[in-house]
Amino acid sequence: MELVIRALSKQYPHKLAVDRVSLTLTPGIYGLLGANGAGKTTLMRMLCGILHPTGGEISLDGLGVAQEEYRACLGYLPQDFGYYPGFTGEEFLWYMGALKGLPKAQARRRAKELLELVGLSQAAKGKIKTYSGGMKQRLGIAQALLGHPKLLVLDEPTAGLDPKERVRFRGLIASLGKQSIVLVSTHIVSDLAHIADVILLMKDGRIIHQGPASEIADLEGFYLEAFGEE
Ligand code: ATP
Repeated sequence: MELVIRALSKQYPHKLAVDRVSLTLTPGIYGLLGANGAGKTTLMRMLCGILHPTGGEISLDGLGVAQEEYRACLGYLPQDFGYYPGFTGEEFLWYMGALKGLPKAQARRRAKELLELVGLSQAAKGKIKTYSGGMKQRLGIAQALLGHPKLLVLDEPTAGLDPKERVRFRGLIASLGKQSIVLVSTHIVSDLAHIADVILLMKDGRIIHQGPASEIADLEGFYLEAFGEE
């Protein structure tokens, strides 16, 4: 499995948000690290087919973003994910499963498995409006996993979580295994230090560093050096 990104760019009317990014990703956890405005969300939204690039190409095992088969291989947790507060956790997953075209029995089976995986079995029948931020984000991961994605894109999944929720969430991401390509964005260095296989450092729309997380002993120092006073 391989995601190939070639010279990908996004020019907004007054801003070049992503500037000729080229990457080849194979299964593993990739931490996309960058300050606010670095271009992380724009890059991720192009990978998910929500935004059209102004230049370059994306291919997942030969499939282009516009192809239905590509979308079927994709799981996405957007930054501003909209939950339905009146739904219970399990109803939400059933509903999202239906939107993905899963037959009812399969959606229910998959929802049960995923609620267990993300530690929400006990809360499955509780309304989402009663969930904490961390619980909502775990439900967000569960919906992203409904279709057994080959490519999982998580946009700042730890934003707004308290330290305890953050640790729990990190454990969940780390457990997603090596079966798929997992791309996680954040500007919080400690979220990635223990879970990412590879760190991608993004600045001003470009990937300015790509390397194994294990090579960067002082990730925080490295990050501060790259971003200066930001
Ligand atoms: P954050 O961590 O704050 O979410 P980010 O790294 O995800 O930041 P993007 O949201 O991709 O960054 O934004 C990159 C740049 O593009 C920013 O300067 C932003 O202001 C600009 N930008 C984003 N969306 C638009 C848009 N629709 N029109 C014009 N400029 C935009």
